[in-house]
Amino acid sequence: ELAYDGVPPRRNVKVLVNPKGGQGRAKKIYEKIVRPMLESARCVIDTQYTTHRFHAMEIAETISLDCDAIVALSGDGLPHEILNGLASRPDAIKALRIPVVPVPSGSANGFSLNLHGLKAGFDVALAVLNVIKGKPMRLDLCSVTQGGRRTWSYFSQSFGFMADIDLGTEFLRWMGDTRFYLGFLYGLISNKPYPFKLFIKSAISDKKDLLALTREPPSKELFKENLVESLPADRYISESTSDTGWVSFDKPILYVYAGLQPYVARDLLQFPMAKPSDGYVDIAIQEVASRAALLSMVDEAGRGGQFYQDTSHYYKALAYRLEPYPNSKGVFSVDGEVYPWEPIYIEAHQGLATTLSM
Ligand code: ADP
Ligand code: MG
Repeated sequence: ELAYDGVPPRRNVKVLVNPKGGQGRAKKIYEKIVRPMLESARCVIDTQYTTHRFHAMEIAETISLDCDAIVALSGDGLPHEILNGLASRPDAIKALRIPVVPVPSGSANGFSLNLHGLKAGFDVALAVLNVIKGKPMRLDLCSVTQGGRRTWSYFSQSFGFMADIDLGTEFLRWMGDTRFYLGFLYGLISNKPYPFKLFIKSAISDKKDLLALTREPPSKELFKENLVESLPADRYISESTSDTGWVSFDKPILYVYAGLQPYVARDLLQFPMAKPSDGYVDIAIQEVASRAALLSMVDEAGRGGQFYQDTSHYYKALAYRLEPYPNSKGVFSVDGEVYPWEPIYIEAHQGLATTLSM
């Protein structure tokens, strides 16, 4: 049908569309922009609309590994499900070599924002071009362990009022990611310490050292053929938090936000030092501070200015552990999903997942 008939297909892509993501625009975006672009680029497309929560995880658990990319027309929730589905397979290491690629069609499209930049992060056509021509890029993942259960996080973990924003502003979904800004202001008004203890297996925390970090390419080690089949075990999970390398954070905490990618939303550059596959999880801790001091940060949050405040602390960590006080209440958010208010252990694993990047 095409003038260049007979040319072999470029890429074989599995496309998952969340018709309920964002303001429900994904289906239209798919039909109008994404599908025509993929077809004209001679991609072989297998499309599936998700019909319920965890559907994308179920699909990823059984997906055939002969595709070149799994594309998510969604916000940040679907990639979390896809990666967890891939990681739960017996052949997880191989499965996680398939690039998981976002096309921004949800309410918070942080993953796309980080791949394509602040100006173009919500540009659908650019994201599709990445599906067509992007090169594989490794991504760090965090293992998240509560009790005996282990899941995977590719984007962020939040505790304290930042988790309330992630989870408690569903009713503000129509605002897109501006709800983060509003939620932040709301959190400042409450300004109360959160009832948990925090321990960090720290790598770098001095701000001067952090600022001196350069964008080194990922180590060669990372690109050696993986000889192991199974996912890596947690290295520090059995260590006592009084062992060397662990620090405990003792001041009253307004929020803890940990993440693997710099932008959380367009107006929130939470992890200016995060790199795709440096093997660290970045942790930003905001002490309880005067409202005036907190308010002064709001304007700068889009450019990461809070990093320089005395009451803001920043760690590049190998792992961390957070323990709620007995009889306290609260929420944890992992990639925007609710996790129970129980002790939680999180560790960074270098380059386990894959995406595409231009
Ligand atoms: P948003 O950015 O709007 O949050 P996401 O892509 O992150 O969009 O999806 C949000 C949630 O929607 C995910 O947790 C996913 O499990 C869920 N979901 C996927 N498909 C459906 C569906 N058909 N109906 C309801 N929820 C769905
Ligand atoms: Mg990292």
